[in-house]
Amino acid sequence: MVNNDKSTVKSYEDLERAVEESGRPYDMEKIRRAYELAAKAHAGQTRLSGESYVSHPIATACLVVDLGLDTDSVVSALLHDSVEDTDVTTDDLKSAFGAEVAQLVDGVTKLGKIKFSSVEEQQAENLRKMLLAMSKDVRVMLIKLCDRLHNMRTGDGWPEQKRRDKALETMEVYAPIAHRLGMSNIKEELEDRSLKYLDPIGYSEITAHLDQNGGAQEFISDIADKIREHLEENGMGKCTIKKRIKSVYGIYRKMFIQNRAFEEIYDVYAVRIILDTVGECYNALGVIHDMYHPIPSRFKDYISTPKPNMYQSLHTTVIGHEGIPFEVQIRTWDMDRTAEYGVAAHWKYKVGVNSKDTDNFDSRIAWVRRLLESQREGQDAGDLLRDIKSELLPEEVFAFTPKGDVINLPAGATAIDFAYAIHSAVGNRMIGAKVNSRIVPIDHKVVTGEIIEIITGPKDKGPSRDWLNIVTTSEARNKIRNWFKKERKEENIAEGKAALEKEMRRNLVNIPDDQYDAFMLDLARRQRLNTTEELYAAIGYGGVQLSRLMIKIKDEYTKLLKEQAPAEVPPPVTIKKQKSSDGVVVEGIDNCLVKFAKCCNPLPGDDIVGFITRGFGVSIHKRTCGNAQAGLAGPDAERWVNAHWADSVKENFKSTLELFAVDRDGLMADVAGLIAELHLPCYAIAARKLSDGRANMTLTIGVNNTEHLNTIIGRLKKIKSITTITRL
Ligand code: MN
Repeated sequence: MVNNDKSTVKSYEDLERAVEESGRPYDMEKIRRAYELAAKAHAGQTRLSGESYVSHPIATACLVVDLGLDTDSVVSALLHDSVEDTDVTTDDLKSAFGAEVAQLVDGVTKLGKIKFSSVEEQQAENLRKMLLAMSKDVRVMLIKLCDRLHNMRTGDGWPEQKRRDKALETMEVYAPIAHRLGMSNIKEELEDRSLKYLDPIGYSEITAHLDQNGGAQEFISDIADKIREHLEENGMGKCTIKKRIKSVYGIYRKMFIQNRAFEEIYDVYAVRIILDTVGECYNALGVIHDMYHPIPSRFKDYISTPKPNMYQSLHTTVIGHEGIPFEVQIRTWDMDRTAEYGVAAHWKYKVGVNSKDTDNFDSRIAWVRRLLESQREGQDAGDLLRDIKSELLPEEVFAFTPKGDVINLPAGATAIDFAYAIHSAVGNRMIGAKVNSRIVPIDHKVVTGEIIEIITGPKDKGPSRDWLNIVTTSEARNKIRNWFKKERKEENIAEGKAALEKEMRRNLVNIPDDQYDAFMLDLARRQRLNTTEELYAAIGYGGVQLSRLMIKIKDEYTKLLKEQAPAEVPPPVTIKKQKSSDGVVVEGIDNCLVKFAKCCNPLPGDDIVGFITRGFGVSIHKRTCGNAQAGLAGPDAERWVNAHWADSVKENFKSTLELFAVDRDGLMADVAGLIAELHLPCYAIAARKLSDGRANMTLTIGVNNTEHLNTIIGRLKKIKSITTITRL
């Protein structure tokens, strides 16, 4: 649960204390110099919450110390915002603190500039950049995670829209990365704090449940005492027992995504037993199963089969004497550190503060490199995003080959994915599969614990193109494509060319013959391919998605037509119009930098005014916005200027709607269906059942203007059982 007593305002003394408590030999002289530079550079700057800015880098540095990172990381945390926000340059840092600090700060600054986008293609490219930075030096990402964590701890003062944007970005990008790096503490806090901003009602409903169960604390303490007693009797008196309550977001997922009642969640309360050796862990498991009745399907042995992020533990759910189920996690100290600190455990427990030795921790971020390497030329951005997301996805399944080898796959993977995970030769020759000796369809979804036998055919059989739509892992998809790429080059070219020509005819794209070759070559180059033939082949084997390519073709074709439009027609005489920027015309100012105020999120069609900011262009407010009204009446009134919307606004504006409805089956599907039918970009959607039988939904969609928004609201209102719709 988000702990609000954690003091978020830190002074340099707090950092000194944190360093001292860590008991590690940090270079305090270097750290003090970094602090002094940061304090000087940020002098006079304050945070939105009012305290002086430097408390933020100090707090970030404290978190970095807590992770056990080295002196250079602490120094870089102190200076992480200095290059971006002050006069300090990378060269200054290099001469004062060395090349490594300069590189770390540069890395963190660059990570911060990668703007999370809801546009799929951009999002994929940005994630790729993040992974690249991380694969070079994972400390960059660790410092960035500490930075984000402190920002989320202090986000209550942000305007509503910024809170939602940051929370969404944290939920979609940073928390999954923290998870993949095995840092469960940071991941859980990031998720809980994001949830608090994204679904405040759902969040408070769960915390209320947890508060009501005050008795549960007692219940779990009682159990911990009893377990300790029994372990002592069995010669394991040296154990440490921790009591644990599931994270709010963990509960939220089970309640709202898996649709279970709070009482139906078995692992809200857990007892964690930490022992010295693996042998003791299994012995302790025996003791627990002796004391309590285990729920058979809920035992998991992540010691013999670690999760991909290296997590190891024994999990079992048992029924307490009062009939209340609870989870017991058993592991060694080593496993516990890995579980809580992930990659950072490497610094915290294994190497000195100044060492750069990265021997056995490389495997922890090997997946990052694997993913980057698996990228092929001409790959579609949407595919990359899917690959990254499936690699970051938290849920995994484990299945066995008949020989007993463990294959681990993301949840939802099929028998074909399983076959390709064994070896591409097995996948390419696959003709069927058996699970626990019974034949299953090849799109069978793998379930943990199954023994899967892949039936293979003749050597030259080869996969089917349809499989590309069935498989869920990037590994299988890549291997299938590679087969087609290699084995069927001619066929791919012919098929790709035919498909492209057909699609162009269907879209009435008719490129003049004398320009055809140049047009196609240009298109190929844009896909990072060298020749038109390669482009045809890529379409043929599925490396380039035709539907996406058509969007680009149509764009280019329109440009081409414009260029060739006859120039004889003289331009009509018009009064000189002021140029618009971002679809807004600010009276008296041409081409100015325009941004939309987060307090009122104006949409085309709204009556608007502009405010001339100091150095950041003109910020556009709704005329009815409280801030604008106050401003127009205030001492700065002359800085408010008239503005209006340009005639054609093509941009997409985010708008958030809140819906109430009488809950019924299929409600969510109807809403989602309408969004799809209207081709609206959907940035966020959340739905909850309220205790009074109603349903509450918030959705953030992209709209063109108020008129467009009103049409959408009108359509939404026609959906059965929806009662009210408000624009947030
Ligand atoms: Mn920062």
